[in-house]
Amino acid sequence: MRIGGAIGLTDMGRRRIRNEDAYVCDPPLFAVADGMGGARAGEVASGLVAAALGERAEGLHGATELAELVRDANARIFAHAAADPSAAGMGTTVTVASVDEAAGTATIAHVGDSRAYRIAAGHLERLTADHSLVAELVRAGRLTEDEAVIHPHRSVITRVLGTEPVVEVDTTTARFAPGELLLVCSDGLTSMVRDDRILKLATESEFNPDALAAALIGAANAAGGDDNVTVVVVSFEEGDPPLRVRRSETAAPDAPSATPLAAAGGRRHGIGAGGRASALLAIAGVLVVALLVLAWGIAR
Ligand code: CA
Repeated sequence: MRIGGAIGLTDMGRRRIRNEDAYVCDPPLFAVADGMGGARAGEVASGLVAAALGERAEGLHGATELAELVRDANARIFAHAAADPSAAGMGTTVTVASVDEAAGTATIAHVGDSRAYRIAAGHLERLTADHSLVAELVRAGRLTEDEAVIHPHRSVITRVLGTEPVVEVDTTTARFAPGELLLVCSDGLTSMVRDDRILKLATESEFNPDALAAALIGAANAAGGDDNVTVVVVSFEEGDPPLRVRRSETAAPDAPSATPLAAAGGRRHGIGAGGRASALLAIAGVLVVALLVLAWGIAR
């Protein structure tokens, strides 16, 4: 099996004045991060985790290694927040998937209330359990899913990157078949669009990643667009996986991105663009992360 297409899209939504979400769409690594914090700290936090993951996008990551990547990102954000009073208390969710095309699996590491789904014909499976107050109440049998969606404290999350020196990371591995989709998304989608509607939109989009990503953003905004909404959609098809050579050995200054990203009105964040930014990141590591954060701050 191999990855057919992959797209990341993010949108401000209709009520927020900033977009604090970020994503990575850099096959075989895919991630969504949803930042929070005063001033622009939320954008910094989600950007830091996207950058940390983007540096390591090449190659396959098992559950242990993926969890270690997330813990490293946590330590970076925590250190950044400790060093910068304006960023104190910033945090971010992260849901990251590393696809093993030959094995037909995706290993997922997860903290917070962003989600990963497997979407098959007529069936949608949630691969992550939200680390949120309402999700804990649902698991304890004290709220129904329907009540959770409209609960006034539905946005309270119980586990986050960046606010503590160490973080517990959930991991899981899911099997995918050709024709199925992996969806990674922020709660700006799932608080606006229910699971059954996501499945319906996938069917209507004929499981085309670009069409589904645009449809999901559109549906979240049509439902009110209360929050930033970010989706990464990956399709799988029959065939041998392509040779994915480490970018640090092949990247040229203007090498085209290997990622079939379409802007489609969405705003790109994080390291999804690949190419020059990724190459520089691979070379300059932490220094470039710092520059990116600075650049984002100036650009906004
Ligand atoms: Ca959010």
